[in-house]
Amino acid sequence: MTGFTVRHLLADAQADLCDHAARGEGELLLMHALGVDRAWLIAHRDDVVAPALAGQVRCCVSRRVAGEPVAYIVGHRGFHALDLALTPDVLIPRPETELLVDLALRWIPQGEKVDIADLGTGSGAVALAIAHARAQTRVLATDASAAAMDVARGNAARLGIGNVEFARGDWCAALGVRCFDGIVSNPPYIADADAHLAQGDLRFEPRMALAAGADGLDAIRSIVRDAPEHLHAGGWLVLEHGHDQGAAVRALLQQSGFVDVFTERDLEGRERVSGGCNEFRSP
Ligand code: GLN
Repeated sequence: MTGFTVRHLLADAQADLCDHAARGEGELLLMHALGVDRAWLIAHRDDVVAPALAGQVRCCVSRRVAGEPVAYIVGHRGFHALDLALTPDVLIPRPETELLVDLALRWIPQGEKVDIADLGTGSGAVALAIAHARAQTRVLATDASAAAMDVARGNAARLGIGNVEFARGDWCAALGVRCFDGIVSNPPYIADADAHLAQGDLRFEPRMALAAGADGLDAIRSIVRDAPEHLHAGGWLVLEHGHDQGAAVRALLQQSGFVDVFTERDLEGRERVSGGCNEFRSP
């Protein structure tokens, strides 16, 4: 039988993807198109692939060459301990956002029944990672986008994560009159005119999940302004932001009455997450 082997298809894909992280992306696209895992791909390099499947591999590779993000082509991405289904209605979870989850988990001791809100949940990445790591926590995940909410709900159901609920709406408005022990968010924080929005994967992601006004701080300003109304005394707010926004976000937190304001750096040493504590008020 003649035809293309797995080895051929992979080599072609990696040659076509020379601008990208070719080796890893070529494997991910083959795994997706052939419906196999990495171990199979390694063990079956010399198998001949049916022409229809080879066509699907080429189709996936062409989409990637045309710029579409791998995560949207394969329809999922790993985040923290979870594998999340994705559509172009939601931001692709980034590794640096795991810092936001890790900081929130530091505040939530195992076994404590606390209420957490995740504003602008998108795929549900942050809310579901927290809910999964802390079974006693109740997480409310919000988003203004109905399509995003469907993706997040689907992820919760598929992963069997039951301690998360959903509410649709803008930032703190989605919380109604509820109060929480902690609020987390990875809001949009790129400036509207930032050239990166017209480059790479960002071109394909929802703009409402990326850009937030002239200085990129519109969403963060809204959240920091309204969050104290939705936090118990001693509750905390933790936000992801751009690497050059740390000082501005700390100032906003302080203006809004937060204490113990801090910023943490991501693995690349850039200021990435800031937060603070809602002051204890006397009754
Ligand atoms: N971290 C993303 C980026 O710079 C932006 C995500 C966001 O705005 N929350 O690509």
